[in-house]
Amino acid sequence: MLNGEKKMERPFRWAMVGGGRLGQVGYKHRIGALRDNTAYQLVAGAFDIEPARGKDFGINIGVDEERCYPDYKTMFTKEALRADGIEVVSIATPNGTHYEICKAALEAGLHVICEKPLFFTSEEGEEIKALAEEKGKIVGVTYGFSGNQMLLQMRAMIEQGLIGDIRVVDLEYTHGFNATDKSDKVSEAQKWRVDPKIAGPSFVLGDLSTHTYYMSQLIMPNMKISRLLCDRQSFISSRAPLEDNAFVLMQYENGAVGRLWTSSINAGCMDGHRIRIVGSKASLEWWDSKPGELRYEVQGEPIQTLIRAMPYLDDLCNADERLGALHQEGLSESWANIYLKIALAIDAKNRNDEETLKNLIYPDIDAGINGIRWIENCVRSAENGAAWVEFENKKSISI
Ligand code: NAD
Repeated sequence: MLNGEKKMERPFRWAMVGGGRLGQVGYKHRIGALRDNTAYQLVAGAFDIEPARGKDFGINIGVDEERCYPDYKTMFTKEALRADGIEVVSIATPNGTHYEICKAALEAGLHVICEKPLFFTSEEGEEIKALAEEKGKIVGVTYGFSGNQMLLQMRAMIEQGLIGDIRVVDLEYTHGFNATDKSDKVSEAQKWRVDPKIAGPSFVLGDLSTHTYYMSQLIMPNMKISRLLCDRQSFISSRAPLEDNAFVLMQYENGAVGRLWTSSINAGCMDGHRIRIVGSKASLEWWDSKPGELRYEVQGEPIQTLIRAMPYLDDLCNADERLGALHQEGLSESWANIYLKIALAIDAKNRNDEETLKNLIYPDIDAGINGIRWIENCVRSAENGAAWVEFENKKSISI
């Protein structure tokens, strides 16, 4: 169980790019990084595309005025001159900016934690991976739901053969918040999501399904997709060519099959994030809306609901437990688990401790590149008239 005690010599001096006053995801980064007082200290930021608002915001969340910078380039330059300069930076800006900021951060000698989808192309991903290796730095990716320990419970149960051979993978990440075009007109965060110059080659495939795809890899590290078929739609026509709905059919190398539905036009749906793995003996199912529960359904037996923090769960799962049974955990703890593991990876990298790095399960640069490849394969299929395509670069996450 985690209790906030220090796991490295001292907290890393941490900064953010983006995630300012109007940013949707910024607070989740801070809640994740600062959950324990022992892994990160927020000491600087270029929080906003508008410098004055970014500075005001930074001061309001307790950052020294002189370390609230007008832009990331100034921050990297000025911080490099300080004896107590930043060591790690998180990038919580729109997709189209990730590549250049990530590259500049690595060149400035910083470890990086970046939002998904990581970049627009897998070539950019490979380039940044090579740069990170050259500089001896970690690039982590904030697949924010993936720190939920019940996913590790699923992984452990599958590994132990409790559901038998995997036959069907059923994934969904949908919501209804963009069922009309109103959000495209009024929300700054939605406007860029449907602009290919800023969002990249996809909307919901990148915005939503990259999370679920990574989570499926985390749960089933040995399952590799051999072919897929993606059919995508723009029900709000002004969003074309980007999709607000997509179906993906998958075939896996071991003969299993899968389907994924991702959508932001699932009208009335508040949180349709679900993973069901069907094996030859039993099935496992997890819903984001009940993150502390895992359904274990053995054919012919009463359905079981496994509950977070109980001693019958696997050690792999309970090692990430923070609050203990009786109390609720959720997205905040999931982010905290991811941020802590990335801190442990940074600490290990700084000490050249390859053994620790090898054994840490966290969304690393490979997970980010795999997410880009997922999008590339889906878009290639969709643009070929929803044709079956060979899954290119079927590399699994490095775990
Ligand atoms: P947003 O539009 O709500 O916020 C973007 C923030 O970045 C704003 O504060 C803006 O001022 C700032 N910004 C933009 N360009 C900047 C620059 N060059 N320098 C400094 N600041 C800059 O966007 P959002 O919804 O918070 O999404 C940001 C990123 O996070 C996207 O890549 C998105 O896909 C991702 N995201 C991830 C999750 C998750 O669960 N991991 C959730 C939401 C969003």
